[in-house]
Amino acid sequence: MADQTSQEKYRETPFLNQMALISAPWPVFSRPSIQLGALKAYLKSEFPDLRVLCHHFYLQAAVSIGYPVYQAIAERTWTAECVYAAMLYPDRMDQIAGLFTKAAKGQKTLRGMDFGHIVRQVKNVSDIFIGKVDWAAMGLLGFSVCLCQLTSSLYFIREIKKKAPDLPIIAGGSIIGGHSAKGLLEVFPEIGMIVIGEGEPPLIRLVGHLRAGGGVSDFPGGAGIVSRNEGPSPENFSFSQLFDLTNLPAPDFSEYFAMLKNLPPEQTFFPTLPLEISRGCWWRGMDSRTGEKGCAFCNLNLQWEGYRCKSVAQAAGEANQMAEQYQLLSMAFMDNSLPPQKSRAIFKNLADFNKDFQFFSEIRASTDKETLEVLSRAGMADVQVGIEALSSNLLKKLNKGTSAIENLEIMKNLEVLGIKHNSNLILHFPGSDETDVEETMRAIQAARLFYPLRIVHFWLGIQSPVWKNPGEFGIKAVFNHPNYKILFPDRVYRGVRFMIQDYRGDKQYQRKLWQPVKRAVRQWRKDYFYLHQPPNAGPILSFQDGDDFLIIRKRRASDNPENHRLTGTSRKIYLFCMHRRQFEAILGQFPDFSTEKISSFLQLMIDKNLMFADNDEYLSLAVPSRNGQ
Ligand code: SF4
Repeated sequence: MADQTSQEKYRETPFLNQMALISAPWPVFSRPSIQLGALKAYLKSEFPDLRVLCHHFYLQAAVSIGYPVYQAIAERTWTAECVYAAMLYPDRMDQIAGLFTKAAKGQKTLRGMDFGHIVRQVKNVSDIFIGKVDWAAMGLLGFSVCLCQLTSSLYFIREIKKKAPDLPIIAGGSIIGGHSAKGLLEVFPEIGMIVIGEGEPPLIRLVGHLRAGGGVSDFPGGAGIVSRNEGPSPENFSFSQLFDLTNLPAPDFSEYFAMLKNLPPEQTFFPTLPLEISRGCWWRGMDSRTGEKGCAFCNLNLQWEGYRCKSVAQAAGEANQMAEQYQLLSMAFMDNSLPPQKSRAIFKNLADFNKDFQFFSEIRASTDKETLEVLSRAGMADVQVGIEALSSNLLKKLNKGTSAIENLEIMKNLEVLGIKHNSNLILHFPGSDETDVEETMRAIQAARLFYPLRIVHFWLGIQSPVWKNPGEFGIKAVFNHPNYKILFPDRVYRGVRFMIQDYRGDKQYQRKLWQPVKRAVRQWRKDYFYLHQPPNAGPILSFQDGDDFLIIRKRRASDNPENHRLTGTSRKIYLFCMHRRQFEAILGQFPDFSTEKISSFLQLMIDKNLMFADNDEYLSLAVPSRNGQ
């Protein structure tokens, strides 16, 4: 028989028959939230009679302020976080408006826009939404808090809690786990608990407990959940995640599509479906300096432990089923990186469905040409490659596990296949030096033949290997990014360790050091897009093979094309190096030619920027000509 205390708790939290999940602004509005969809489907599979209402509210916000303005705000963390911060703390409006203006610099859509007006518009639509739902009728409310969703989620949490003080609220997501969790619970008493890592198993435990008549205050917590009363210390949190993804049902996006259906024709669109093949990251290379695994700047360990991947049939079948269910063909795989072993089989299966899919995915630079061809045949149109640097020396410091020549090879292969890529070049990484910049400048001479990289400046993520081992990277002190001091009152700034950190180290030196690279990338972008203006959309450096001779043609922005002809063995060596080759392998392939002869030919090709060499490996840069261009 339940004692009096638990009976009171039971009254506090009535039998849980319905709950809600919210994704607040600012995710990409044109796709449903994978987090909400996956959690709903999983909860329904465990508790079929439980009503799980998902609010992909960010779409409503985007409709209200207009898609271009929403997108412009959502593109940058600080513009996004400013809007709801001004609603949370109206007395800080002036400082926050100043930060918004600074963060929005160069963002054409936001030029001249009144920040106060944006805030009023967003507040209006948010408050109407909050006012419409009977929150007290829910047994539990969950928030998915990922990039750019911190202040927006906190605003909803605070306002909803005013309307339904007894409603238990749980939050989780990529930016509030780990070291942030305890502090957030302390300074925001409206949050009941925080999930660390994946939501499914902890949420199932909590829902099961509430449905059995328990209350939030007597929930035992444990791995994967931090509560105000108990939970692991920030240094000692642990995950409770799915052992494998076999039992993960396809995500349920019904509410997003219901909302979309009710939009007027001029505001409706065909969304992109988010899907996941795997969770975690398979790149676990050890950094000998720190003993940490994975890339030095990456803090994915906040969310996951270990790599898990769906089976070939499950992954391909799910994509096909989703296409049929929602009658859509644009899909974005949300994986950190596609699985190295299964990708070919999954995408071969997808190609067999004979649909005109259009996929986006993130991939590692080590993805080989044959795999890229399979992806392309299945419909891979857009990728983000983990390039990050064009200097092998710097790539080592990043513990990326790749080399500059490997990066150039994948950039070339994507150019051949016509797959667009939006990949980053990280500048200002602490501890980078003149050698890194010199190597980068040299590689840009070759890389500028291919689709340009996008410059990003290094930022310090909480719990990344750099953050954990600052001394190894010349960092003297780490602390919250000062922009949080503008967004939040001092009590919050000091009480929470936020996702974006700042540091004292060699920042000034780095800014100066990377100036030439910035200029070179600007020129690269200018020339590339000039040379790809219609009707001249062909590759910059291409070749035509005449069987015993090879014509190489380079299009130039400020001059007539440059032509070269290679014959006999020169042609053969050039074609042999279409895939990067070690010098020894080239010698072995052409035993009739002396080391000196081969060496001087390779050097000639490098001097003419027709080949690239790095660490004794050689790569031919021309791509097969298209339409004789
Ligand atoms: S940056 Fe990408 S490849 Fe590197 S550890 Fe993070 S997820 Fe893995």
